Amino acid sequence: LIPALRVKDLAFYYGSQKAIESVSMDIYQGQVTAIIGPSGCGKSTFLKALNRISELEGVVRVEGQVEFFGQDIYSRQVNLNRLRRQIGMVFQKPNPFPSSIYDNVAYGVRVFSRPNRVSLDETVESALRSAALWNEVKDNLSKSALGLSGGQQQRLCIARALAVKPKILLMDEPCSALDPIATMKIEELIDSLRHELTIAIVTHNMQQASRVSQYTAFFSTDESRIGQLVEFGATTQ
Ligand code: ADP
Ligand code: ADP
Repeated sequence: LIPALRVKDLAFYYGSQKAIESVSMDIYQGQVTAIIGPSGCGKSTFLKALNRISELEGVVRVEGQVEFFGQDIYSRQVNLNRLRRQIGMVFQKPNPFPSSIYDNVAYGVRVFSRPNRVSLDETVESALRSAALWNEVKDNLSKSALGLSGGQQQRLCIARALAVKPKILLMDEPCSALDPIATMKIEELIDSLRHELTIAIVTHNMQQASRVSQYTAFFSTDESRIGQLVEFGATTQ
């Protein structure tokens, strides 16, 4: 097993408030790691610390290390745009842009490179196929993303993240806003994506963790140990 991300003694503060304390764990390449714990225990903060998105939310302080294939992501040399491209993210509430399906998926590619039309078309199709959405939208690529169902919107957001070819996909409760059928589709998708990239998924649902993950990290339910990891290891099925 190769660690795609290696977290060493991580602590995270919003101002003076501590949200994460002494967390150490690995996120292994090609595996799905579930991050479980009660509301407010620091799961989202932890996930967003892994691609430094949490810093966009205000003044924060970070101690310890996060290594992405051996490189410290909190070192000065890190290019944040590159980092956030390589470590993509999907949120609880699907958040497509109010633009066409095609433009949603093409967005990141257009920001990061100057693709020609043919290669962009290929990238969009390939990302939509990987997100198990191509067959449902291929005749409607120029229609608004906001016309899609919730589950389709979430798979579109996954396609948008995949289009820039990340090495890791972080998912923050990606099914919480979805119905059971849409949830099942996302869970199947997670299982197929793990052969292309590494996934970390925050969930409060133990059954979901055991269905989709190979490794599980549990944050403490104890008020006095908020933001601490109590257990990390292979998922028990
Ligand atoms: P979870 O995802 O497990 O529900 P969070 O990571 O969202 O937990 O929150 C952990 C703690 O950090 C909570 O006490 C929360 O109130 C606090 N917190 C989260 N985001 C912010 C923020 N942007 N500014 C200040 N405090 C925050
Ligand atoms: P790739 O799709 O292979 O990751 P990139 O365009 O991201 O290609 O990287 C281009 C070059 O930058 C590569 O040679 C890679 O080794 C190097 N590189 C990758 N990540 C970083 C980083 N975080 N900081 C600096 N250089 C990097």
